[in-house]
Amino acid sequence: MSETLEQAADLHGPDNPLLRAWQTPFETPPFDEIAPEHFLPAFEQAFADHAAEIAAIVNDPSAPDFHNTITALERSGRLLAKVSSVFYDLVSAHSNPALLEIDKEISLRMARHWNPIGMNAVLFGRIVMLHDNRTTLNLTGEQMRLLERTYTRFHRAGAGLDDAAKARMATINEHLAHLGTTFSHHLLGDEQEWFLELGEGDREGLSDSFIAAAKAAAEERGMAGKAIVTLSRSSVEPFLKSSARRDLREKAYKAFAARGDNGNANDNNASIVEILTLRQEAAQLLGYPTFAAYRLDDSMAKTPEAVRNLLERVWKPARTRALADRDALQALVAEDGGNFALAPWDWRFYAEKLRQAKANFDDASIKPYLSLDHMIEAAFDCATRLFGVTFTERKDIPAWHPDVRVWEVKDSAGQHKALFYGDYFARPSKRSGAWMTSLRDQQKLDGEIAPLIINVCNFAKGAEGQPSLLSPDDARTLFHEFGHALHGMMSNVTYPSLSGTSVFTDFVELPSQLYEHWQEQPQVLRQFARHYQTGEPLPDDLLKRFLDARKFNQGFATVEFVSSALIDLEFHSQPASVSRDVRAFERTELEKIGMPAEISLRHRPQQFGHIFSGDHYAAGYYSYMWSEVMDADAFGAFEEAGDIFDPKVARRLLDDIYSSGGSRDPEEAYVAFRGRDPEPDALLRRRGLLEATEPA
Ligand SMILES: [Zn+2]
Repeated sequence: MSETLEQAADLHGPDNPLLRAWQTPFETPPFDEIAPEHFLPAFEQAFADHAAEIAAIVNDPSAPDFHNTITALERSGRLLAKVSSVFYDLVSAHSNPALLEIDKEISLRMARHWNPIGMNAVLFGRIVMLHDNRTTLNLTGEQMRLLERTYTRFHRAGAGLDDAAKARMATINEHLAHLGTTFSHHLLGDEQEWFLELGEGDREGLSDSFIAAAKAAAEERGMAGKAIVTLSRSSVEPFLKSSARRDLREKAYKAFAARGDNGNANDNNASIVEILTLRQEAAQLLGYPTFAAYRLDDSMAKTPEAVRNLLERVWKPARTRALADRDALQALVAEDGGNFALAPWDWRFYAEKLRQAKANFDDASIKPYLSLDHMIEAAFDCATRLFGVTFTERKDIPAWHPDVRVWEVKDSAGQHKALFYGDYFARPSKRSGAWMTSLRDQQKLDGEIAPLIINVCNFAKGAEGQPSLLSPDDARTLFHEFGHALHGMMSNVTYPSLSGTSVFTDFVELPSQLYEHWQEQPQVLRQFARHYQTGEPLPDDLLKRFLDARKFNQGFATVEFVSSALIDLEFHSQPASVSRDVRAFERTELEKIGMPAEISLRHRPQQFGHIFSGDHYAAGYYSYMWSEVMDADAFGAFEEAGDIFDPKVARRLLDDIYSSGGSRDPEEAYVAFRGRDPEPDALLRRRGLLEATEPA
């Protein structure tokens, strides 16, 4: 016991790398020195520091002013932000059992730490006083926005409730924190356990690059020499697209769709019921009829009705297109001599066949031109042309895994702007999906702070000595996440809580989805899509077929997305008692919208980490589509200028969207960029769904 105590005592001091000043270049986290046992003591110190900073604001005898209250709040919690960002990066991108154990503990302690701050009556009293008098305070635009956002944040956390309600709210928050963590651990558990071994006889239809990736995945799991399909999306989806073995497709599909719903120790059904019940109670304590009403009150969309309107507008033409596609696929099955009804595990396979037949294009033909390195180069080059930033790889920055690469980003004047970390390959220690996050956000409250921005993806690694070859979807994901990264790196605000991606969830996908547009420009592809062996550029004919094929299968893609967004909205709009049987609720809702039986949700509830691992996208999955209304319209500004890198338009894009973070109202920022509101049909046109009509 004394040994433990001694160890703990040491780790509360400078022996703990998380509590030392970092001597690395650009003061980046010294990942090579950080071990799981450093986190608890560091968090304890960070909680204590932050609590003391808050107490100093609360106990300040002078009358509240912007500086001693709002600015002081912005200055508080630096150590906590520093420790948390490193911790959550590791938990998501490179976890281990020790970290996951700490995560359980920390999520609870985090809720316990924030509850008394978010609900502090004296602190809230100071904020209310300033907010009431905000027009007389002589604030800059950014300061005004900060004051409003701070007031709203405290109000929505329950700072204005009576003591009994606050106590209940605190308990709810703790439960929710625990449940969200459990949900994501379960999902990771199911994903780590399953694999499908592909013997020599099981590989019909699979490309060489797929087999190479399947071998790399096996090696990653200590099964060198074998080839496996895993439950990572970038393994399952290409397998479903190309495997000619219907029995194996069914196996892989069913395992993928059953994640979190297997009735084992990782089952998420019970957690979902509890989460929904608690969210509803929290919303009602705050005076809202439903969680969706609460959640959307603080968004661009504002109400559940506005969200439903958008989704239904898209749903109808998408469903119509999907049903027509289904008939075409069924005909193809028959033509092929198949005597079965198209099933969800057949869709991608026959859609790919149909695409080959109609557009004379398949993913495998373009993959050799889309090597990861070339696509990274393309993403960087577009940023250079648009925003003048340049990228230089650095080998001296410590990272959390040997596969992580780091680049220094400089502005057009050659000044240091940011560091960019790219962590691209799937591995068992990484959760599924792709995301952007940061180790440090840009701000200039007390001097310029340059951001440390991360992109994490789950691309399949190339085989020994071979580059990783991306599918068109992967390449699009790379640009998407890099768009988020630019939002973080180009940020130019004073206050940390308004930095970069600290914007409404239904606005945050604008910079990312807009950036995807450059990936599919002929000008960009001609330059960067070069064959990984011969270096020859993408042939014009293949380029044309690739671009034509983009609109292919959009009915399917839109249906699987919109159905997920609708079910998210329904989970959070209907009384929680209705969804006690999660599977029955899913079935009923899908029937209600006439979901084609051959398509499933992009995320079934039991694996819908967006909405159940935390509440960030809860009643908010629609955000991608809300942002798409803007991105489809926004790219038009470049097309109208006749140059996809038009300097004037790019300048406005930087000023109004990519650098302004949360310092402006998003609607106003969009209009400033575009000169008008977004034109909603642009989205349907981009997806090729404008002409689809309801079937008789
Ligand atoms: Zn995104």
